[in-house]
Amino acid sequence: MLHLRNYIGGELVAPAAGRYLPNIEPATGQVFSHIPDSDANDIARAVAAAEAALPAWRLLPAEDRGRLLVRVAELIERDLDRLAAAESQDNGKPVTLAQAVDIPRAASNFAFFGTAAQHFASETHFQEGVALNYTVRHPLGVVGCISPWNLPLYLFTWKIAPALAAGCCVVAKPSEITPYTAYLLSELCIEAGLPAGVLNIVHGTGPGAGQAIVEHPAIKAISFTGGTKTGEHIARTAAPMFKKLSLELGGKNPNIIFADCNLAEAVQTSLRSSFANQGQICLCGSRIFVERSIYEAFKTEFLAGVAQLTVGDPQAAGSRQGALVSEAHLQKVLSYIELAHLEGGTLLAGGRRVQLEGRCADGYFLQPTVFEGLGPDCRVNREEIFGPVVTLTPFDTEEEALRWANGTDYGLAATIWTRDLNRAHRVAHALQSGIVWVNTWLHRDLRTPFGGMKSSGVGREGGLEALRFFTEPQSITIKL
Ligand code: NDP
Repeated sequence: MLHLRNYIGGELVAPAAGRYLPNIEPATGQVFSHIPDSDANDIARAVAAAEAALPAWRLLPAEDRGRLLVRVAELIERDLDRLAAAESQDNGKPVTLAQAVDIPRAASNFAFFGTAAQHFASETHFQEGVALNYTVRHPLGVVGCISPWNLPLYLFTWKIAPALAAGCCVVAKPSEITPYTAYLLSELCIEAGLPAGVLNIVHGTGPGAGQAIVEHPAIKAISFTGGTKTGEHIARTAAPMFKKLSLELGGKNPNIIFADCNLAEAVQTSLRSSFANQGQICLCGSRIFVERSIYEAFKTEFLAGVAQLTVGDPQAAGSRQGALVSEAHLQKVLSYIELAHLEGGTLLAGGRRVQLEGRCADGYFLQPTVFEGLGPDCRVNREEIFGPVVTLTPFDTEEEALRWANGTDYGLAATIWTRDLNRAHRVAHALQSGIVWVNTWLHRDLRTPFGGMKSSGVGREGGLEALRFFTEPQSITIKL
């Protein structure tokens, strides 16, 4: 049985109170490790270590900071298979997905921000004959990074890497549900020679360790990814302390498919955007609006694709769908399937828990599920389910599709399928959505701003946006 430890002041240490939490493998329903149930004392210790490391780290030339981050990226790449296996065991996702997406993207987060540190420049505003104004961007200091369970190492590093690149020191908490790869990352940081205290990884619950990070007065900013309700709570706690906040929250993303699209591509990518990671990606498109003239054709091909999505042991190469992350989350998703029936939906595929045999007999598996016949205003089409459940809805006009797409409190991501370039621009601009993909999904360029509108969040991650978030601008004026 594995016993994970906190990474504080460059060392792997036990939690101050000696308490541990069980960590369950979703595919088997069995405890496979114990993790520190850290509290405010552990956070205080981590903050002290970060504060001690800060003066040297912030003054280290960006090139040297960057070199260390690139070294971490290389070690993640070296250990890709081991990390992918750990991610799959901890989260329930197919190991093939972790190998292809989660772990390579975690490595590129460190590589990208390692080099970006050297390209981050500040502005000069010259007033001819009068004054020279220039902006200095100081690292904020010690910052907190809190991430969710769905893309554990990928989203954890998406926050940590820019914070470190900007010259901040970090106290980070992964989700207690998926702590394993964050622990393995702490081992890699030690191997990479990251100076002690620059990054501290503290394990524990949201209300325990997470809340202690948000409340700690020496932590200057919180970069948080998770549910909208938790984000609201964090904002309420942190705002009176004037902490800087970046909140990446939930979504209920529309996928709008026009009749002039490349149907085969739209179907194949929609299968991915519906069911990748068992639908547990904040960017998954769970509301599929299809122009009426191709609705039946789309539906037939889409359902044929759904039938091919084998649910199985995440460790098996042939499994396209793994386990949901926990029994509690599975029950939540099942309750939405029940609600979809109650709201008058017609079940087209799935809808039931899957009982596997052998080592996965007690795992949290669910069939990929498709409904139609649900109005855009019903709860199933407005609330985030965060599982392998999508709805199909025909539309008649562009205006109708847009109204429905924008008709939720969320505004994270949207996908448009069309060959009409004018329409692509027109619809994209009218969508209340922080991210819009046209004829693609989950396409990544780390330089682009990432984040949501409305209840999907505040602020943007990615590229220079992230480096700006972790720094404080100071304007200096010199009279000529
Ligand atoms: P939660 O909001 O439950 O948890 C997110 C993180 O916050 C976890 O580490 C959690 O710890 C921690 N946390 C919980 N309560 C507190 C608190 N009071 N103070 C500080 N930290 C706290 O989200 P989930 O983990 O369930 O993740 C799913 C959600 O994340 C979905 O809504 C999804 O849309 C969203 N998400 C958004 C993304 C985006 O980029 N916009 C990307 C990915 C997911 P613990 O788990 O240990 O309780």
